Amino acid sequence: MIVERKCLDCGTPLHGRADKKFCNDLCRNNFNNQLNSNSYNLVRNINNILRRNRRIIEELNPTGKIKVSREKMLQKGFDFDYFTSSYKTQAGARYFFCYEYGYLPLDNDEVLLVKSKKESGKINDDLQRN
Ligand SMILES: [Zn+2]
Repeated sequence: MIVERKCLDCGTPLHGRADKKFCNDLCRNNFNNQLNSNSYNLVRNINNILRRNRRIIEELNPTGKIKVSREKMLQKGFDFDYFTSSYKTQAGARYFFCYEYGYLPLDNDEVLLVKSKKESGKINDDLQRN
């Protein structure tokens, strides 16, 4: 039985051993580099989103605590899908953090921006009481 196999990198039909996946080392290296760079790009892109989110909260929240509209954050490019941690208070309110900067979604499309004293993004005692 002949199973047609193709090089995973360039698609050239392969002959020889059944477990052969590439024409040669060049194709193998090219393929592996591509894989690595794709996963690296994914990580880098998400890191960039998180850093941008953090910077946006930092810019909008110079005093440590402020209420802003969700729209204003979106206009600056904030991506609500990405955060580094979240914290739920006993009252059931959920804060989302991008590193030490966080926000609490409020009614009327507003958000409360906060800053945690701990770099881990864990909320501090002062916030827990609110
Ligand atoms: Zn090839």
